This record gives sequence, C-alpha cells and structure tokens, in this order.
Amino acid sequence: MNIDSRRIYNINDGPDCVGPVIYLMARDSRVSDNWALLFAQNKAIELKQPLIVAHTLTADWPEMGYRQYRFLLDGLKPLANKLAKLNISFTVLEHKQAREKFIHEQNPGAVIVDFNPLRESREWKRRLADRLSCAVYEVDAHNIVPAHIASPKLEYAAYTIRPKINKLLPDFLTPIPPVKKHPNVLETSLVSPDWEKLESSPRIKTPFPVWTFASGEEAGESMLDEFLTRRLRGYHERRNDANAGAVSNLSTYLHFGFISAQRVAFEAQRFDDDFNARDTFLEELIVRRELSDNFCLYNENYDSFTGFPEWAQKSLDEHRSDPRKFVYSPDEFENARTHDPLWNAAQIELLTTGKMHGYLRMFWAKKILEWSVSPEDAQATALYLNDMYALDGYDPNGFTGVAWSIGGVHDRPWFERDIFGKVRYMAESGCKKKFDIPEYIKRNSQASLEIGS
Ligand code: FAD
Repeated sequence: MNIDSRRIYNINDGPDCVGPVIYLMARDSRVSDNWALLFAQNKAIELKQPLIVAHTLTADWPEMGYRQYRFLLDGLKPLANKLAKLNISFTVLEHKQAREKFIHEQNPGAVIVDFNPLRESREWKRRLADRLSCAVYEVDAHNIVPAHIASPKLEYAAYTIRPKINKLLPDFLTPIPPVKKHPNVLETSLVSPDWEKLESSPRIKTPFPVWTFASGEEAGESMLDEFLTRRLRGYHERRNDANAGAVSNLSTYLHFGFISAQRVAFEAQRFDDDFNARDTFLEELIVRRELSDNFCLYNENYDSFTGFPEWAQKSLDEHRSDPRKFVYSPDEFENARTHDPLWNAAQIELLTTGKMHGYLRMFWAKKILEWSVSPEDAQATALYLNDMYALDGYDPNGFTGVAWSIGGVHDRPWFERDIFGKVRYMAESGCKKKFDIPEYIKRNSQASLEIGS
C-alpha cells in the first residue's frame, strides 16, 4: 500500500533497527483512516516485527481537564478492543516516566508519532527523537493536505492558503485503506490498561464531565452519517443560526482524532443534494481548519498578544486606555455573571454542554475583549475558558479562533472604534439577524448550572 511520503518525516534521521514498532498515538486516536497507524504497520511488516500502539494520554496537553480526559478515556476503551482483533498490542502511557520506561524496555525498531503543531506536543517529540537511536517518524494523519506541504510559511489569511490547498487536494483527498490483521504478534503480552484506575486519576479532577456526545470512533462515524443525511442540506443558510441544530458537531471528534478529516471530506464531497451547502461545509472543514494548523505551526506566539498582526497590535495599543463601561474578572466571566443575558447564555452553553455554537464563539470572545482591562487579559481569559470547558478545546482552531476574535489574525483592519481599534467589532444586532436571541437565552438558562458538581 502506498502512503504519500510527503506526510512522513524522519525527525531524528535515525535508522530503522531491530525491535517492535511503536506508534505513540496522541492526536489521532483512531484505528480507521489513520495514516500514522498505516505507516507504522507498513514499517512493522517491512521489518518483520510486531506492532504496538501506545496512547500517550495527556502528553500533548499536560493540563487537560477531567471533562476532556474522561471523553478521551471513554473513546480509548473500544479502540483497544478493535486493535486486539487486528493482532496489534495496545497500552496507555500515563505520564512521561511511564513513556520513557516503556520505550526503553521495548527497545523499538522504529517509533512513529502523529503530527500536532502545538508547542508541548512538538517539544516532547523533539526531546524523544533526540534521545532515541532508532528512527522516529512523524506522520501528519490529521490534515488532509499535510501542514508542512500545504504551505512552507505563515499564511496571511484564508484567501492565501485556499489556492495552495485546492491545488494539492487531488493528490491527498483519496480513499484510505483499512489496517490489516498484523502478521507478527508480540511475544509477551502487555499489561491491559486499568481503566478504573485511570478514570480516578488523582491529578485531574475538574471540570465536571458532560455527556453531550458519546465518545469514540464509532460515535464519530455515527455523527458524520447523521450530519450527512439530516443536517448538511441547507448548511450554508442555517449554520449561523444558533437554534437550528444545523452544524455538524464534529469538532470534538476531529479534535481527539476519533474521526479523520479526510474521511469526513471524502464522504461530504459526494453529497450532491445541495452543492452550496456542501461547498460551504468543505471550506470550513478543509481551508479554515488547516489554516489554523498553519497559524500554530509557523507562529510561535499563537497564544499571545505578540502573535497578532502588527496592524492589530498597534491599533489595540493605541486604545489601551479607552474607558470600559464594564470590566469583569475571570471568575465573573467563568460563572456567567455579566450584565448581558446573551453572553451569559453562551457561557452557560459552554459550561453545561462542552460546546458553544460557532457563531456565538466569535461574539463571546469579542465581548471578553470589550469587558477586560487589556487585550492580553482578554486573550488569556478566552483561552482559559475555551480550553477548560470546551470538549474540542486546546486545539489549533481554538488558539486561532481567539486570535481572530481578539487580535485580527487572518482578518483585515476595519473602521476604528473604542477598545477594539481596527479589530473587527461584533454587536448583538448581528446575532439578531442570524437567530432568535430570546429563544437561545431561554434554552440555555433552562439548562442546569451545576458548576463544580
Ligand atoms: P461545523 O460548522 O460543522 O464545521 C465543521 C468543521 O469545520 C469543524 O468541526 C471544524 O473542524 C471546522 N471549522 C469550522 N469553523 C471553523 C473555524 N472558524 N476555524 C477553524 N475550523 C473551523 N474549534 C475547535 O475545533 N476547537 C476550539 O477550541 C475552538 N475554539 C474556538 C474559539 C473561538 C473564540 C472561535 C471564534 C472559534 C473556535 N473554534 C474552535 C472554531 C469553530 O467555532 C468550531 O470548530 C466549530 O464551532 C465547531 O462546531 P462544528 O463541528 O459543529 O462546526
């Protein structure tokens, strides 16, 4: 089976050695449609070795909250069974020491990691690659067009990356073969994960879990089926209506890698009932999502003020001392205690469901800028709340979405106004044109607010 070599980088220039092949699964937690797993299997077959998948749990995000951690664990249980049927050994590595000990004991012939542009992920992989003498391969299994190939530099906006991605799509938006039953079995079986113990990890306690979405690969596939059959038609007209239930709800599955963006795009492009809906959806799924990976890959300040474009930094600087009519502390924001019922309803949606509607996410972050003492505080608050409570949080899409809302990233200068300077403003009147605000507020204030329970 051919895997496009442009997805794969030998990050330490090490040689293949004798020993089992280990795939350290992190961002792409699935068996189907996973180029990193397929490459690992190819390598193991070539070296005539067993294949081990070792999930690294919170390695990419050491501060992961209990809500996201439970969602991840729930999805890993069926994944372990699926791998067992394919003769592929599975284990979970709870922390760095366990990871290092395991790799040392297995003495691998090659190690495979998946691609994530975020800082912590790149750092642990870099350190690991420097220490190991066998080859460490990184495979971009998350993007349809691998991020390094889509563009070698920081892109200015969607319109600059779109033609580059579109040109490469015919090469990369292909069917993905299944994983085979692995011919070589590990001689000593690995200790099975103790799920109960993992679930009660003393390290991770908050925030309270939510059960809005079922977890795992199968649940992701069902969500895709349901979206294609019931919600994609009319997506371009209804996606900004926060009451319509018209969006895909796939971001959480994409974020954890329980579903592959390539599979979603491959299925969606065959949808011929409503071309406008299909194309609008593919623009979000492919161009906007991969633009976020580009931003985090090439802008090391993706989570700070200095990562904003110069025009936005200058303009926000000029408006630092503008009077603020309302200023809220992070705690007031977190507990949905602002004067604005719409903002509070959006925050309650995030707290109680683990997802805020995409249109409101923009409004929500822009209001945090308007009601904070500085753009730095606003960015920190928005990232804290997004990553703490959103099931799809701590994702390049989140860092980019916050930087777009507060710092004009991928946007252009607008008319100058107080506090925002030339950063685009969003008013409640914009929301009013898109959806029934009282209905949204009613629905979300009825939701039980059991913070911390
Ligand atoms: P759909 O409308 O069905 O879109 C399908 C897919 O396209 C999404 O799953 C996502 O992968 C991609 N997509 C859609 N909108 C965007 C966008 N603006 N940028 C990049 N990709 C997009 N997305 C996250 O995945 N995680 C986050 O933590 C996150 N935080 C955000 C914070 C702010 C302040 C903003 C403005 C946006 C954020 N987004 C985030 C982007 C976007 O809001 C969500 O991806 C979307 O709401 C997810 O819902 P859905 O899957 O039903 O979207």
